[in-house]
Amino acid sequence: MDKSHQRGQADRGMSNDILEKLNSIRALMDFAVPEEKMVEALDLLEIYSEDKIGLDVLHEFYSYLPEGKDDWIREIRLIGRQKGMFLLACITGLTCYIYLVSSEGIEFHGSFEEGIWDKEVLDFFGIENPKDRKGLDGPEKLYPIYEPIGRDAEICPACHAATGEFHELGCPVELCPWCGGQFVYCNCRFDKLELDTLSGEAELIKLEELLSEKGRIPYAPEQRPSFLDTDELQ
Ligand SMILES: [Zn+2]
Ligand SMILES: [Zn+2]
Repeated sequence: MDKSHQRGQADRGMSNDILEKLNSIRALMDFAVPEEKMVEALDLLEIYSEDKIGLDVLHEFYSYLPEGKDDWIREIRLIGRQKGMFLLACITGLTCYIYLVSSEGIEFHGSFEEGIWDKEVLDFFGIENPKDRKGLDGPEKLYPIYEPIGRDAEICPACHAATGEFHELGCPVELCPWCGGQFVYCNCRFDKLELDTLSGEAELIKLEELLSEKGRIPYAPEQRPSFLDTDELQ
């Protein structure tokens, strides 16, 4: 069926992006990672080699070493996750840094010790300020290891919506409530808007209204592209 053909096209686009990012991180690591730590640093890169969020963090860190000194990421831990946004703690050879990451971009939030523990961010993730527990545990004790999303069935691999949450509009995994196909590929959006192309913001807003009226299909693990659950992907 042509549905599988279209899905294949989307995947190729994604893996090209990821390959490019991997190569770029490896090149940056040559300048940043102390020689004796390179093997361990590369092991961590391998763990996140198919995970967009993990790669974004590694790329950001190795592009702008926050202290301007040689350093490397030993571990990435998950402080909080909400609606496709991730608050991550990167434990490095020297210290620990906080990053806020989503498919929209990445924000540096300072070191774990002196971090910009913004109240809005803390409330959004429903977490307490770790500074309020001063003298207690470090990030290694407080937060679990961040698992690569490709392997976490409860998270949409493209837009990172959790099970039961709506996809970001435009996510290739979202199913069309009218025809059951992939919403970004079927023609329903044009049929419903009675248009040939979609250009303006107003049309997108109208489309979102029509979608909500019909009832959008939230993310569920069954929607995952099947290649993510096999070991063949390389
Ligand atoms: Zn999605
Ligand atoms: Zn459709």
